[in-house]
This record gives sequence, C-alpha cells and structure tokens, in this order.
Amino acid sequence: MRQTYDAIIVGSGACGGWAAMELTKAGFKVLMLEAGSRVEPARDFHHTFLYQMEYRGQGKPGLLRRYSGSERNYRIMIDNEENPYTTSPETVYRWGRSRCLGGRTLHWARATDRMADYEFKAASRDGYGMDWAVTYADMKPYYDRVESFIGVSGAVEGLPQFPDGPFLPPMPLNCAEAIFTAACKSLGWRSTHRRLSQLTRAHNGRPPCHYCGNCVNGCDVGAMFNPIAVTLPPALATGSLEIRTDSVVARVRMSSENRAQGVTYIERYTTKSVDVDAKYVVLAASTLENTRLLLLSARGGLANSSGTLGHYMMDQVGGGGVSGILPKLRGGPSRLDDGKAGGITIPNFQNIDKGTERKDFIRGYVMNATGGQTEYPQFAERLPGYGSEWKKEVKSRYVAQARVWNAGAEMLARKENFVELDPEVKDRWGIPVLKIHFAHSDNDHKLIEDFQQRAEELFRKAGGEVMPTARVAPAGFPGGPGSPDAGPTRGRSNEPASGAAAARQRRPLGGSIHEVGTARMSVSPKDGVLNSFCQTHDIPNLYVFGGNAFPSTGDKHPTLTMMALTARGCDHLLEIAKGKTV
Ligand SMILES: Cc1cc2nc3c(=O)[nH]c(=O)nc-3n(C[C@H](O)[C@H](O)[C@H](O)COP(=O)(O)OP(=O)(O)OC[C@H]3O[C@@H](n4cnc5c(N)ncnc54)[C@H](O)[C@@H]3O)c2cc1C
Ligand code: SF4
Repeated sequence: MRQTYDAIIVGSGACGGWAAMELTKAGFKVLMLEAGSRVEPARDFHHTFLYQMEYRGQGKPGLLRRYSGSERNYRIMIDNEENPYTTSPETVYRWGRSRCLGGRTLHWARATDRMADYEFKAASRDGYGMDWAVTYADMKPYYDRVESFIGVSGAVEGLPQFPDGPFLPPMPLNCAEAIFTAACKSLGWRSTHRRLSQLTRAHNGRPPCHYCGNCVNGCDVGAMFNPIAVTLPPALATGSLEIRTDSVVARVRMSSENRAQGVTYIERYTTKSVDVDAKYVVLAASTLENTRLLLLSARGGLANSSGTLGHYMMDQVGGGGVSGILPKLRGGPSRLDDGKAGGITIPNFQNIDKGTERKDFIRGYVMNATGGQTEYPQFAERLPGYGSEWKKEVKSRYVAQARVWNAGAEMLARKENFVELDPEVKDRWGIPVLKIHFAHSDNDHKLIEDFQQRAEELFRKAGGEVMPTARVAPAGFPGGPGSPDAGPTRGRSNEPASGAAAARQRRPLGGSIHEVGTARMSVSPKDGVLNSFCQTHDIPNLYVFGGNAFPSTGDKHPTLTMMALTARGCDHLLEIAKGKTV
C-alpha cells in the first residue's frame, strides 16, 4: 500500500517554499518533489573575486552555453543539455531557469513590488485583454503577510500606482542615486529607493545584509529572500515536510472521480519511475514548467476545458537603456558602490488614470537608475587609448559610472504567444519538452521606444555623459537586452543593455525572466484554467502556483504577486480541507 500525503508540492522555489510553509504549519503532511539537487549556502556560495577565477568570470568555453549563468553561479542554474526546449522560427526568447533546491530566487535581483489596482483592472480601463479575477483589496492582506515575513526594505511613498508595504528601512542612496533623484525631481517625476527583499536590519531570526554584493551568486547568510533561508526552515521545523530532491516530476495522475490522485516522478540519476499519492496536488515548478506538466498529464492538456492552457504567454518587455558616467563624480575616491545592490526606481506615470492617458500606446513601464564603482571596469575595453594616461582615465571614470534601465514594461497578453509540447524533442528522461511561440506586438515596441526617450531625458538632466555601445550579453540574461534586473551586483556587468543610440532602433526585444500567463485566472471556467485562488476550474484538488494565473503582466516585478497568490491559494485549500468551502 502506497503512503498517502495530504499534499504533494512539485518544485521548491519561491511559490513551492511558501506553500510548504503554510500547509505544514496548518498540520498537513507534505511531500515536496524537486527536480534539482540540494544546495548548502555556507558550502556552495563563495565570495570569489574575478581575478581568482580560472576564466575571470567568463567561464570555460562552452560551459555557459550549457549552464546559463556566470562562472560563479552556473551550478545553481539549469543544465540546458539535460533540459532543452525548442522555439518556433520567429521566436526570440531565452528561458532563464534554475534546477536546484530553492529555485531561481537563490540568485535573483530581489526587487519586490506590489501590483496596483490599476494593473488588476487594466482591461476595464483601456479595453484590452481580461481583468484579473482579484482586485488590490483582495490581494492586500496577502501582500502584507508575505512582505512582513520575508522582510522588504523600502520607503513609504503613498503613491497609488506603487502601493506601500510594511517596509524595513531603505538602503541609503549612493552619490549617483542622489544625483538621479535630484534629476527626477527637476523633471517632476516621483522616484524612490528600489524595494528589495534584502534585510537592512535583523528580521525573523535572519541577519541583516553586510553588503558584500554576492547576491546573484547566492547569499551565504540568508539576508535576502530565498526558500532555503526563509520558508523551508520553518516548514521543516514542523516535522511534517519531506523533501525529495533530484526527483523530476513527469505528470499528474488522475483518479476515476476527476481528482488528482498524485504524480509520477523519475529519479534523476537512476531514471527509476516512482508514483506518489496525495489528497491535494500543488504544481509550483515555475510558470512554464507547471504548464508543461499540465500538457503532459492528459491528451489536450489537463484542466483545459477552456482551451486556453498554454496560451497568453507573457514576459515583461526588456531592452533599451543608457549608460555612461556622471562627470560630477569623476576622479572621486574609491567606494564599495556595488556591495549595496539598490538603485532608485521611478514608478510608472503613464496610463495610470484618465489624466495620464497616452494616445499612442497602452500600459506602461517602470524605470530604474543607479551608478558608482563596480568590481570590474567593463567600460574600459571601449575606451580609446593606451598606457598610463589610459589607465588614469579608466580610474577616474571608474567611480562615476551611471546607468538608467528598464525595470519592466508591460507586455500585452496575446493568444498567439503560446507553449505546446514539442512532438519530437525530449529531455534527458524522455519527457517531451516545451516548444515556445513568442513574439512582441507593436505596443510592446512602442513602450520601449518611449522608455528610451525618457531614459535619455533623465540621463541628460543628471548631467550624464553617454558611453559608446556596450558589449551586449544574451537577451534576457543579466546585463543583456531585456534583463530588467541587472543590478549593480558583483559578478555581472554594471553596464546597461546598450548605449542610447542602439536602443532607438527597433530590434528584437529580450525576455525579462518574468514569464507569466499560460494558465490564466478567470471568473468563468470558459475563459481560463484557474480561478482566483489558483485552483483549477476543472479539478478541485489541483492548484497551480507561479505566474501561470496572470491575465496581464503589469509593470511590476512579478514574484511578490506570485507569492501573495500562493498564500491566498493556500488559505483556500486549507478551508476546503476543513470543509468550510468547496
Ligand atoms: C537572474 C534573475 C533575476 C530575477 N530578479 C527578479 C526580481 O528582482 N524580482 C522579481 O520579482 N523576480 C525576479 N526574477 C524572477 C523570479 O526569480 C521568479 O519569478 C521566481 O523565482 C518564480 O518562483 P517559482 O517558485 O514560480 O519558480 P522557481 O523559482 O523557478 O522554482 C521552481 C522550482 O521547480 C523546480 N522544478 C521545475 N520543474 C520541475 C519538475 N518537473 N519536477 C520537480 N521540480 C521541478 C525547479 O528545479 C525549481 O527549483 C528573477 C529571475 C532571475 C533568473
Ligand atoms: S549583499 Fe547582502 S543579501 Fe547580498 S549576498 Fe551579501 S549579505 Fe547576502
């Protein structure tokens, strides 16, 4: 007789970790299945300078194609050879993934923003797409709950388009950020400290950040949010959580009563197939992997009576930006600017109400700006000259670096952007992989064009001097076009996606690692896969946590909203389990 759990959670990332904590604290016996291996922060996350690395951070030839990431953090990224995916010929999309206990927030950029009411009701405002099945008022208690637990530093601003939370003190601004803040003021734009789930003081038994700047390679002390430091320890402390790593879930199994009975997983190294059963099945394997599992679990897709499964894939639109120097800071003393990953953020100020409506595009974007000294003067390779004069020039500009980047522009949800199972290609375990069909609309391009003009305006107002076009990292990856999160953190370039001129041309837009949609929430089962609690409309004991439920992207970083939806969904699941609701 097989052991039955109260719940199986597939995936140990931000959403899986949160669900494990909520459900075990409520007395559930939970089995978590994670496709990747265990990670021990104290053992695995080292502070290594570029000059100490064999390939100076660039990685052994071929290595970084196999593991997207950097020479420092590739171990916590996915092995692309084991886990391929395919795209249609017109698609330009790089899918940034991790396979390890804890998932992608082990090395994320920590930006933690609430969506505002105008984003949940975007369709009612401008007539495009579908409203969310929740409002800001529904989400507020869950935003409060998640932020209070994980710890988010930020400043209270009282802006309706950028709702505040119970913040820890913000990180102080550095010189470049103070200059950009003054420039925003003179342009009449509101700006604030970036809101980061990075502790500025001790919180819930975790130490404050010591500003070592290693975040995107993993934090060894637990000062930034990730499941290993924050949600899995309390879940494990209940004694009700069993974690099986290196367990690749292949499908959800159904009972004859239209209920999920459990899942089948494959042991990563032995390739043995194992069936496990539970009263509830929670998919939290990240947005597109969740959808892949639903597609793998029934002909035409599980829980797909609406026919929308796989469709309306979105990612925030990335691209553009300006980099250069702030001459006021030239030749100043050396400072640890990239130890503090921060910057300022300029909340969207267009299309947020009647008074800010644009005629030429709908929706909007958030801008970020920062600057200062970085571990490596990446710009030096583009600076003409040689010898000691050149070195002096590099040194004098080194502390004055500055950039404005796109933190996330809202991509429109379109049915023709979708994922399906590739009929031919399989992963290392013989499981069909996803084929991605993904293209940007005119509106997406217009947003970036508008952003580019504003970015240049801000840079000029700050007195900035633009640098020649940067060497560009791959789209959708840190420092590359579309990376909204490329913060001034060690181990990645402090350059923007490109210089100003490059972004003015229309060019392929990159993914932003903020993929959402493909199993959207809807009030009516005929319009979407999930209800407002992320429970599938069709199968009452099957929940999907991640970005799947998003009917639109909004202009904010998505992970806090994914976690708040998870918290809300867990409350609902527990009420059903107690027989309080159906
Ligand atoms: C470099 C980088 C910077 C980012 N910065 C930000 C930011 O500043 N702000 C923000 O809001 N978001 C940011 N993001 C996005 C953020 O990391 C994701 O939105 C978030 O991690 C999603 O959480 P998740 O739990 O849905 O998925 P993940 O964190 O991806 O976790 C999913 C887990 O499921 C496991 N899994 C997958 N398939 C299977 C399977 N078949 N069986 C078992 N387990 C499986 C994976 O191994 C993984 O551990 C960033 C992402 C990256 C890569
Ligand atoms: S800067 Fe702070 S959060 Fe980032 S790795 Fe260092 S201690 Fe951790």
